[in-house]
Amino acid sequence: MSDADYDYEDLGLVAGLEIHQQLDTAHKLFCPCPTELREPEAAQRTFTRYLHPTKSELGEIDEAALEESMVDREFEYLAYDTTCLVEEDDEPPHRVDREAMDVTMEIAQLLDATVADQVHVMRKIVVDGSNTTGFQRTMRVAGDGAIETDEGTVRIEDLMLEEESAQRVEETDAGVRYSLDRLGIPLVEIGTKPDIRSPEQARDAAERIGMLLRSTGQVKRGLGTIRQDVNVSIAEGARVEIKGVQSLDDIDDIVRNEVRRQVELLDIADELQARDASVGDPRDVTEVFEDTDSGVIGGALSSGGNVMAVRLEGFDGLVGREIQPDRRLGTELSDHAKRHGAGGIFHTDELPAYGVTEEEVDALREAVDASPEDAVALVADDPETTELAVDAVVERAADALELVPEETRGANEDGTTRYLRPLPGAARMYPETDVPPVEPDPTEVDQPELLTEKVERYQAEYDLDSGLAEQVAYGEYMPLFEEVVADGVDPTLAAGTLESTLTELRRDDVAVENLTDEHLADALALVDGGEVPREGLDDLLRALAADPALTAEQAVEQQDLGGVGAEEVREAVVTVVERNAEQVETEGMGAFSGLMGECMGELRGKADGDTVSSVLREEIQERAG
Ligand SMILES: [Zn+2]
Repeated sequence: MSDADYDYEDLGLVAGLEIHQQLDTAHKLFCPCPTELREPEAAQRTFTRYLHPTKSELGEIDEAALEESMVDREFEYLAYDTTCLVEEDDEPPHRVDREAMDVTMEIAQLLDATVADQVHVMRKIVVDGSNTTGFQRTMRVAGDGAIETDEGTVRIEDLMLEEESAQRVEETDAGVRYSLDRLGIPLVEIGTKPDIRSPEQARDAAERIGMLLRSTGQVKRGLGTIRQDVNVSIAEGARVEIKGVQSLDDIDDIVRNEVRRQVELLDIADELQARDASVGDPRDVTEVFEDTDSGVIGGALSSGGNVMAVRLEGFDGLVGREIQPDRRLGTELSDHAKRHGAGGIFHTDELPAYGVTEEEVDALREAVDASPEDAVALVADDPETTELAVDAVVERAADALELVPEETRGANEDGTTRYLRPLPGAARMYPETDVPPVEPDPTEVDQPELLTEKVERYQAEYDLDSGLAEQVAYGEYMPLFEEVVADGVDPTLAAGTLESTLTELRRDDVAVENLTDEHLADALALVDGGEVPREGLDDLLRALAADPALTAEQAVEQQDLGGVGAEEVREAVVTVVERNAEQVETEGMGAFSGLMGECMGELRGKADGDTVSSVLREEIQERAG
């Protein structure tokens, strides 16, 4: 059965979303540092911490977290001139940032959620070093909301405001290196109830929430600033949490592929039961591969490793069965082996291959007493890793006999998923005693206009066409557009500049990211006020992008971009017309378009095209015929 034929209602699909979005506030959540990302090379100093959760805390930590804490021990942090002692945990956190709380309340209104009378900051333990304190501060600001989708209401369970974790830079020999620039950026987390019933509805709900968030005009944009997790299960399957869906466009594929995985795994379990299948004990089969041509196995053996194999009785043909596009039951076994440090597994459904010969496969089957109905999986690595990995394979294969395991999975770029770790238990929270509770007042914030409403208003009020209106409303310059238009700049000029002109400059490799909101607002005001001709805007923006330290006024002066007066325009036009006197006499207005280009060249773009064109018409008329 192909997944296109699935009846999701019949299968009992239940899904929920958890969406994390960074806020674009001036300051971090618990200190006055800017919410600015830095390059690791800009770090001013580094320091090292060893995080050891206390025994009482460890008692509350679930298996997944505990497993994580065993892997990485030493944490190194990069600090900047834009981070302070709060990020380093050498100074207590300040009060909750007011702006972040206001934006969160706006989001609560858009989600039709009820804001709590009193918001308490809590600590959630993290042991992976992504926070210098060993916990993440989080607070539940609102709950009991709802959004509408084409397939019905999706309830919102809660809206949290929390601190973003430090950015993982790289693995080091002893542990992990983190960057403190991201630590403490305000992050909202929106969790829906498991009300979603189809892959399309999951995407619809995620898009709706994304639109609501962007309607505030105060969310960060770009890769990694929004992260989506999806919880998926089907009636006979199991709850699976899929982490880190990067793009909204992937959400329906992710859900579709997870349903398919669970359906296929259930089908495999049925088949295995019908075959009375079982999983054997691992055996050392190093002998079989002593003269192997397989690079992977040979490499492991030559550096002192060994090979262990397990007989999967009755599994023949099923280990290689596809359960997601290009992923098999064997891939699941392999993911578990990888979790314990192995490079992966080989199994007989895919052998002989990878340098493993048919003779070796026969000898392997013999070594573990496998019949033709059985499959054999093997791991080759250093002896310690091999043992852990093969045990993990045995455990996962045993689960395949009866059920879909509950687990946390990671989203792959192609819409498939991979095993990450066991499902975490409910995180235990502790009160953060360093930060006083907040009593938010939702009446102090206004409900933001929805982007969908903005698109309509831009068309009606500003006479923008629907395409441009949508580009502006959904684009990153929406807040700036509203600001400059409120200051009196012509909406068509502002929209065209912020969308088309900047896009063209970017294509032309101009460093548009260097342009600040102030640059753009000032440049637009100069053009709108007639101090710089429209034709000079392009050069002005180029000059500012090349030297962002300049103000717009300075750039105009430096580049000599100021407009020329009516007299100079007339003078230039007359020069051109006289130079082409013969042509003007014979062709009359027919000479217009050729001469127009020449006039603009003469004026070096320093005059408005409309003005030049009307002067040119006058001059031609006077001389023609
Ligand atoms: Zn700080």
